[in-house]
Amino acid sequence: MSELHHMGLTELAAGLRARRFSSVELAEVFLGRIEASQPALNAFISVTREQALADAAAADRILAAGTGGALTGVPIAHKDLFCTQGVRTTCGSRMLGNFVSPYDATVVAKLKAAGAVMLGKTNMDEFAMGSSNETSFFGPVKNPWDPRLVPGGSSGGSAAAVAARLVPGATATDTGGSIRQPAALCGITGLKPTYGRVSRYGMVAFASSLDQGGTLTASAADAALMLREMAGFDPKDSTSVEREVPDYVAALGAPLEGLKIGLLREFFDKGLEPANEQRIREALKVYESLGARLTEVSLPNLPLSVPVYYVVAPAECSSNLARFDGVRYGHRCENPRDLMDLYRRSRGEGFGAEVKRRVMTGTYVLSAGYYDAYYLKAQRVRQLISADFTRAFESVDVVMGPTTPTPAFALGAKTSDPITMYLNDIYTIGANLAGLPGVSVPCGFVGELPVGLQIVGPHFSEARLLNAAHAYQGATDWHTRIPRGFA
Ligand code: GLN
Repeated sequence: MSELHHMGLTELAAGLRARRFSSVELAEVFLGRIEASQPALNAFISVTREQALADAAAADRILAAGTGGALTGVPIAHKDLFCTQGVRTTCGSRMLGNFVSPYDATVVAKLKAAGAVMLGKTNMDEFAMGSSNETSFFGPVKNPWDPRLVPGGSSGGSAAAVAARLVPGATATDTGGSIRQPAALCGITGLKPTYGRVSRYGMVAFASSLDQGGTLTASAADAALMLREMAGFDPKDSTSVEREVPDYVAALGAPLEGLKIGLLREFFDKGLEPANEQRIREALKVYESLGARLTEVSLPNLPLSVPVYYVVAPAECSSNLARFDGVRYGHRCENPRDLMDLYRRSRGEGFGAEVKRRVMTGTYVLSAGYYDAYYLKAQRVRQLISADFTRAFESVDVVMGPTTPTPAFALGAKTSDPITMYLNDIYTIGANLAGLPGVSVPCGFVGELPVGLQIVGPHFSEARLLNAAHAYQGATDWHTRIPRGFA
């Protein structure tokens, strides 16, 4: 039997059902790894050891009775943006540093119902705003491949935790790339589902028309298992879509013969590092050998996605974050003089610099006099980008390209220049603007650092994306690599 932490979700779930090991045993192994790595990686904001061991013991009783769900006894972690009843949910912010949610997010409730055991809440950029995990009030997360580098963001804690095998799977959210980008920089598989596939109820809102919950796991097969348990219509989220959840696991094995892959011309631009491009081209060769056909497609409006996103996302965040006012919950300043003072100081103290920058930008683009010039214009260009994708999917089944322009960068390298930081998401934002599903899979290394291949498909094509990712992972072993020091 290989070591327990080398096993993915699927293998662990099967091993638990076969009673080859117990859930308590697993929880102990992974909790030990989490605690040992915390000083080096800072991947967690809260570790819920006692609750986890109690839940694992309960899972073992269910397993002994031969009942239970698809994930009974399997340890997971949640990005600290999903509300967890009775456990602090900070969203990486001082503003919510003391917030204990009275209810579970739907994703949390669904994974609980499937039997998963939560070990803790992972670190993240403040309110999911960032690409490097450096905006967290709880300090940056380090990349397990090289602790001098960032893990990507905003789901950097979840990504680092899965890459270092501190946990076999974690939830994450993606507003402009926050699942796919850290997956690429940490060498794991990250799936952002179609907008509306997974309920946003209980996910602290950043930009409501873009936010979508998804998975970080070692493999596409594990993502399929986790998504199957997370997805589905939720009457508590009016933007969740009433549509049957396919059995993503059963769909994994379909042959790729004849799959039409579009190469996005705009993704192979001058910003893409040549060594990264080489890894992507090699991955595409693997797809050709599996029977796929490659053609070039162009999405002429895609280069506008970063400026469009940095109008739309701040606009929505300025509205969403207005609720944090020091009155009902969250951080409240000491001894406010009057109501205005309470608002000003609570928000001034509770939010970090990046959040303030976005709230100010968003308030500006929504203000009378600028609304038409910025917000309305951005919404129009968003439609054009969406139409570009629709046109592309008339001739190809999926599009492929890099997830990021470069491998992981040094901590501090981009913090003084927000625009450089924002350009990191140049390849991922388009899918959010169009509401499309996307997956990033590890496809090799540049030096010692992992590189991600991105696959984007039409709305609700998660089964096809996971199938394509799984076939690639059957032909390669990049997704099995574990950073030195965590093997
Ligand atoms: N990096 C992007 C941002 O800073 C995307 C974040 C995300 O997807 N949550 O907004």
